[in-house]
Formats: sequence, structure tokens, C-alpha cells
Amino acid sequence: MSEKDVLSLIDEMIDSGVNLPSPPAIAVRILNAVQQEKQSYTELAKIISSDPALTAKMLKVANSGFYSPNYKVTNIEKALSVLGVNVLKNIALSFVISKKMRGSSDQTFDFDYFWRRSVTSAVAAELFALQIGHQNDDIFVTAMLADIGILILHQALSKEYQMVIIEGKTSNEPVSLIEKRLLGIDHCSMGAGLLDCWHLPASICLPIRYHHSPDQAPDQYRQAAEVLQIADHLSSIYHDSNSGERVRTLQTELMERFDLTKEKIIEIVDAVASRSVEILTTFEIDPGDLKPYSEILEEANKELGQLNLSYDQLILELMESKTEADRLAAELHGANLKLRELVFRDGLTGLYNHRYFQDMVDKEIDRFDRYNSCFALIMFDIDFFKKVNDNHGHPSGDQVLLNIAQTIQKAVRPSDIVARYGGEEFAVIMPEANVSGLKIFAERLRRSVEQMSTLVDNKELKVTISVGGTCCLPDSGKLDKKTIIDTADRALYASKHGGRNCTTILPLGN
Ligand code: GH3
Ligand code: MG
Ligand code: MG
Repeated sequence: MSEKDVLSLIDEMIDSGVNLPSPPAIAVRILNAVQQEKQSYTELAKIISSDPALTAKMLKVANSGFYSPNYKVTNIEKALSVLGVNVLKNIALSFVISKKMRGSSDQTFDFDYFWRRSVTSAVAAELFALQIGHQNDDIFVTAMLADIGILILHQALSKEYQMVIIEGKTSNEPVSLIEKRLLGIDHCSMGAGLLDCWHLPASICLPIRYHHSPDQAPDQYRQAAEVLQIADHLSSIYHDSNSGERVRTLQTELMERFDLTKEKIIEIVDAVASRSVEILTTFEIDPGDLKPYSEILEEANKELGQLNLSYDQLILELMESKTEADRLAAELHGANLKLRELVFRDGLTGLYNHRYFQDMVDKEIDRFDRYNSCFALIMFDIDFFKKVNDNHGHPSGDQVLLNIAQTIQKAVRPSDIVARYGGEEFAVIMPEANVSGLKIFAERLRRSVEQMSTLVDNKELKVTISVGGTCCLPDSGKLDKKTIIDTADRALYASKHGGRNCTTILPLGN
């Protein structure tokens, strides 16, 4: 679309009743004043001074860190000498135009966001232009008004522009293309066209027209259009989502196109935020929590650090709880074992007790039934034990019982089960034992007690045992616990009757 086309389109819009804003009266006066080269200096000062609010703002800008004057600027004349006619004109224009184009934000349009983004863009343009040596007094106001076409289109074609906003949010298509498709004109041409109607110079209007397509700009205005494009990207870092990705894209772009270092770029990005806060305040626009990108990044990293810390802490606590739980489980397991031992062990000798013995016989019978695995049972009783108690006292009798228990325990195989059957009677279950094994072991048992002596009252006390045994063999048929125990018991008493200190092996059941 040529410049002529744009202007005729704007004319058409006006003719068809579309309400386009007229320039603020004071802007017209400022523009007229600076066009008359000779008197511009005093005339501009006079115009600005006539508006106390504008004067106050101009002085604030003149004294701001942004223009860093070496001395305090107290009146417009001084401001003029510090900033120069052009800068003062541009700042004044920015003020008056942005003030006129300020509406109240509603669901359809966020004016605060618009101007916050525009002012940040203006600051960014000024800083970036300085960085790349782009000499342009108009760059601030140009960037400030670069998107004014959006405001105009929104005000003039409110309903239609809503469609643009919705499509812009939901598709990846650049906004200027959506505008062209839906409205026949994009905000670049619209803004440039209107500012041209307001008689703003080409140095402002043309870079605006090409700020989304600097490649198509006339040579003279290409760099300014490029600066506007970069300024727009810089501003979006602070006012749109995905700032991290925006910074990375910008870094690549600036490193390639302008040969800037990463550090330099971050320096500019940071400066844009800190300087914008000051200018936004002067423009009476809430800067929100605008902070330099590095600061945002640092805070985010700190938060991440804290998050990691608390995550590590959590893991540590979990591990500690797990260790504690494991310890408690082990303790419980130990306690259970102890309890089991207490339940199944005999308090005096430490051997398995009668109850455990009964369970183990059941188990062996079970194994026999399932696997036909034979086993033997030995029962033995201390000979004339009553006499031991009578002659040496009950505690000495206990000593003898304990000594026998330890002796037997040493004599058996690990798989054998030794139990105190009751009083001074003991039992040994021997899994997988046959008759010859049983005979050999029963005799070994008898001998080991015979050879043993217990120190009682400094005297070596000797006792003997009578042993009886039986064997459950593969041909034993259906086993019966009572029969097995009775057979071993009968064998034991056969030994007693046989003169004691001897062993008797009886076949099962007889
Ligand atoms: P036999 O050769 O016929 O077995 O004669 P004995 O004296 O060993 O037989 P008896 O059954 O008459 O005596 C068993 C004694 O064992 C009686 C009881 O006081 C003693 N006794 C049983 N349990 C214990 C115990 O835990 N400690 C002590 N010190 N003596 C016990
Ligand atoms: Mg006895
Ligand atoms: Mg007895």
C-alpha cells in the first residue's frame, strides 16, 4: 500500500463517518513552532511554559538520570539548552499525544499496558540508537508513537479490531498481517498515515510505517525502522510473556546483525528497565514491578535455589524418616525374635521348650508325609537326678541341667532340634536320620554326658543319662505323633530298666 493509498484510505474512513482523533492543539502549536526554524527556540519555550503541567513534566525529564544534566534545570530555557530543541519538542509531543490518546482500560483494550509498552519502547529505542551510533533526535517520540495505529484502529473500528486481538492471541500470524487481512490496513500504515495528517515530520512517520518491515523502508529511514523493531523486542521482554526466550532471541539477533556482545546486550536490556521506571512515572503511568532482567533472573535463580534446597531438605528428611523407620522395623523384628525365643525357649537351659518341640514334631511329620523324608526322635532323662538335688541343693541341680544342655547342644548337628521336654527330661529331633545314624548319635550323646562333669561346691559332680530313641522310616506308614513320642519314651524307660546310663532304640510303634 503506497503512502497515497494510505492517505486516501484514511480520507475514506473519515468520509464514511469513522471517528479519527485530531491532534492535540498544543502538539500542533509545538510542531508549527519548530518548523519556523528561526524563532523555534523561544517560541517552543513559550508554548511549553504556557502549560504548567507540561512544564513540570519537561523539567522532571530534563533533570532525570536519563539525560543526566550536570546541573539542575529549573526552567524551560535551561531545559532547552540541556536537551536541545528537538529533544524537548519530542518529549513534549510524547506527553501531549499520549495524554490525549489515554482512555480508560476495559475488557476490550488495556490502555495502561499499551502506554507502558510504548514508553518502554521509546526508552529502549533511545538507548539502542545510542549504542549503535544511530543519530536521530526523533527516535524517542517515534518509538513512543510507533504503535499508535493500534489505538486508532481500536477506537475507530472497535468491533472489527476485537477480532484482530482475538486472532492475534490464538494464532501465530503476525498482528500486522491479521490487521491487513481483516481491516484492509495495518497499524503501521494507519499510525504513520494519521501522524502524517497531523503534520508530524517524515522522520517520524516513515520509520513508524516500516517498523515491522524495515527491509522495505526507504534507505534514509531503514535504520530508524530497525531501531524501532529492536526497541519493540526489548520492550516485549518486560511486558509480554516468555521473557527468557525473548532475551535469547534478541541476543542472537543483535549479535548477528549489530555485532554486540552478550554482556553488552544484557546491559542494554537491564538499562531499559531501570530507565523506563523513571520515565513511566513522569508520564504518570504505573511502571508496575518493572525490574532489570538480570535482577529478575537472579531472583528466579534464588527461588529455584530455595526450591532445590527445600527439595534436598525434603529428601534428607525422607531419608532420615526412612532410616528411622528401618531402625524401628529392625528393632521390632529383633523384639519379635526375642519374644519368639521367649515363647519357644526354656528359661533355664536356653533350649527349645516343650511347646516348640511339639510343633517341630508336627513339622517333621508333615515333611515325612510330603517328601517321605525320615527322621528320628531321641528322649533322655538324667539318672537319679533327685539325689543331685537332695545332696547338693536345687541350684546345683540347675547347674547340672544347664551343663547338660550345653554339652548336648555342642554334640548335635545344626539341623537337629534339642528341647527340654520337661523337668530333667530332654528330647532331640534329628531330621533325615536313619536307624544306624540314630544309634551312633544316641550313644555319642550318652557318652558326652558321662564324660562331662559339673563343678559343684568345688567338687566335680558327674551324672549319667538314660537314652531312648526311635526312627520314622520310609516304610513306617502313616505317622502318629503320640505313637512316635510314646515309642521314644518307652525306649527311654527300657534303658532305665536296663540299668541306666545306656541307650535303647525301638522300632516305631512297638
Ligand atoms: P530316675 O533315674 O528314675 O530318673 O531317677 P530320678 O531321681 O531322676 O527320677 P525322679 O523323676 O524321681 O526325679 C526327678 C527330679 O528332677 C525331681 C525334681 O526335683 C528334679 N527336677 C525336675 N526339674 C528340675 C529343675 O528344673 N531343677 C532342678 N534342680 N531339679 C529338677
Ligand atoms: Mg531322672
Ligand atoms: Mg524324670
